[in-house]
Amino acid sequence: MCGIFGYKGKGDAVAILTKWLQRLEYRGYDSAGVCVVNDDNVMYRERAVGKVAELSSKLQQHKDRSYTRGIAHTRWATHGGVTESNTHPHQSNDGKRTIVHNGIVENYSKLKKELEKKWYEFHSETDTEVVANLLQEHYDSNTANMLETAQILQKLIRWAYALLIMHSDHPDEMIAIRLWSPLVYATNTAWEQFFSSDTQALAGYAQQMTYLEDGDLLHIQGDTYTIYANGEVTKRNIEDFDQEALEASKGDYKHFMLKEIYEQPVTVKRTMQWRVNFDTMSLHADTFHGMGNEDYKKIVTVACGTMHHVWWLWTYRLQNLAWVPAYAEIGSEYENKPFFVDPSVLHMFLSQSGETADTLETLKMVKEQWGKTLGIVNVVWSSIARETDNGLYVRAGTEIGVASTKAFITPSVLMLLTSLFLGKRRGMRLTKYQQIMRELQHLPAYIETVLDQSDHIRSIAMDLIQYEDFFFLGRGYQYPIAAENSLKFKEITYLHSEAYAAGELKHGSLALIDEKFPTIYNLPHDEMYEANLSNFQEIKARKGKICVIWDKRVEEADRQITIPETIDEIYPFLTAVAGQLLAYHVADLLWNDIDKPRNLAKSVTVK
Ligand code: GLU
Repeated sequence: MCGIFGYKGKGDAVAILTKWLQRLEYRGYDSAGVCVVNDDNVMYRERAVGKVAELSSKLQQHKDRSYTRGIAHTRWATHGGVTESNTHPHQSNDGKRTIVHNGIVENYSKLKKELEKKWYEFHSETDTEVVANLLQEHYDSNTANMLETAQILQKLIRWAYALLIMHSDHPDEMIAIRLWSPLVYATNTAWEQFFSSDTQALAGYAQQMTYLEDGDLLHIQGDTYTIYANGEVTKRNIEDFDQEALEASKGDYKHFMLKEIYEQPVTVKRTMQWRVNFDTMSLHADTFHGMGNEDYKKIVTVACGTMHHVWWLWTYRLQNLAWVPAYAEIGSEYENKPFFVDPSVLHMFLSQSGETADTLETLKMVKEQWGKTLGIVNVVWSSIARETDNGLYVRAGTEIGVASTKAFITPSVLMLLTSLFLGKRRGMRLTKYQQIMRELQHLPAYIETVLDQSDHIRSIAMDLIQYEDFFFLGRGYQYPIAAENSLKFKEITYLHSEAYAAGELKHGSLALIDEKFPTIYNLPHDEMYEANLSNFQEIKARKGKICVIWDKRVEEADRQITIPETIDEIYPFLTAVAGQLLAYHVADLLWNDIDKPRNLAKSVTVK
């Protein structure tokens, strides 16, 4: 999610708004813009595609610094391409209303058609410009009152949005409305007023703040403001701005990794919010534009470490749900294989930092052969994002713990959505599609249920710290997760672990099993359940201890972590979160430096 800002005071609005835009750069965006107004009601709007630095350099050429209020925006395109004309702020046809918007106006195309019949012209492809013109239409034809017009607007547009509105006939007013997308209003003793989609950006400016709730409208008039909910004046809590608490802090959590594990229900919701409408069970095609319209004969995915496991899981799903042959290659190995790039093959690259050297190297080799490329990254302006033909952004937010948790789950959700998107185009069964959609909607709650077991998982960890070697097993969708759980485990516990496809154990490695070599077994009631039970018994027969991650209790397991009952496509998220907590608690009991494990770095920029 990108950001919106508003400022009204006596300071240099251009400088203040630009600073905030820079502070929220990590959130991911593709273009940025501001619109400022001075005390003589002179307006100046500037927009730029690319980094905030591009916008700043345009702003620097404009020497006038008399502007004392304004709005700003970093855009993450949902409706219309990444172009300057689609960049916010947008204006109504008569140029009087200027708005910034985070979110999606779902019913925009119907509203747009109605406006077109009334001769409104559109200069962008965005849903936002429709809102600007709706404001003009209802102001002119109904009320000539900024507040009432915004209240009419609230009834006309469907979620999700945070919107800031300025009107040149009402220079002393500003209006904010929100539904779902976050928005905070803040003040200080210098009579300055601020809006921001993230409190972090306001550090150093704000002293008191109010979080607006869903459906709220906040109306600034001069130095005062009024909040309305359902047309009635209402009050919201005013909180002191706690600067220190807002520094990238661990909050009440002992480690960043634990905080990031607990953030996952919210990040998952955020990843889905932009791309799925659960009411209509549909996917916003625009948000998958990076996949292109071509039907690729084959997809090759390239990544390293945890990100390789995301791909690996996805290749199973792509083949099962969308019938696209897909192969997951390790970045550091693929470049060593002789490969020939075929135009019907899409190469996809995934990297949390977007700078992973091994992945980047392969990307360059594919490009040298004119191959089609697509990047999936969390950090928008990273090298991989720039070098690939197209990109999808993960939007997991900053991850500080070196061992990735939310940066594993979030792209995995994105890739499941992509499988549904491609599957639907390729004739996937509707009942299957609907079943996955229904369960996806519950995914944040399912993850919460796993997180609720943290204390129980810690008690299992207490048992496990007496051992030095571990197997992590799984089959089908659960095999890549066993690999991920094993990697997480060794990264932070420094204990030896190996991941195996459960059926493969008997072909050699079973020789290692005895009472000192425990197994962590991903064993949900999926299609593989029966086959898994045989492997389970093979281990038990050799006196191996087993901790299972499953949704139904089976008596012979030594320890179990229970996950909610769901469907094969959703189980992997839950077994992965259980694995994260297990690794975390074992490492914590061993007093390891969890956020900065020895020998490892967050962004691996060397080969
Ligand atoms: N839907 C709007 C657009 O595509 C806003 C997207 C955003 O939140 O940045 O322009």
